[in-house]
Amino acid sequence: MGVKIRKSKQRNRILEVLQSSRNHVTANWIYDELRPEFPSVSLGNVYRNLNILVDQGLVNRLGFGSNVDLYEAVREPHYHFVCDRCGAVEDVRVPEDLQHRVESRISRDYGHVVTSKSVEFHGICRACRADGVTM
Ligand SMILES: [Zn+2]
Ligand SMILES: [Zn+2]
Repeated sequence: MGVKIRKSKQRNRILEVLQSSRNHVTANWIYDELRPEFPSVSLGNVYRNLNILVDQGLVNRLGFGSNVDLYEAVREPHYHFVCDRCGAVEDVRVPEDLQHRVESRISRDYGHVVTSKSVEFHGICRACRADGVTM
């Protein structure tokens, strides 16, 4: 009983931490955030709670082809830009009319109905460009 309560308290805290951050963070980062408040928390607890939050549709897990998953609280639909040099991940928005046009084209040209999409933009981020990095 006590264990159950403590775990859902940790889970609520994880959700709060994610909701108050605009960043895309690792389970390790969350673990470090929680430790001062929950000294007995383990990385395994963090992963278990993240899996539950993902199943509940409250948190997104992002892979980006790397071996470290990133997490973010679910909010307005958006896409991601991933810097191939420094690994930075930034939210990007695509105007709705543009998205709608792409979906209409897929429907018209292929006869499919689009119900969801997952788009990932890769390249060199603003900060790396300022460092003089080019393709
Ligand atoms: Zn970069
Ligand atoms: Zn995002």
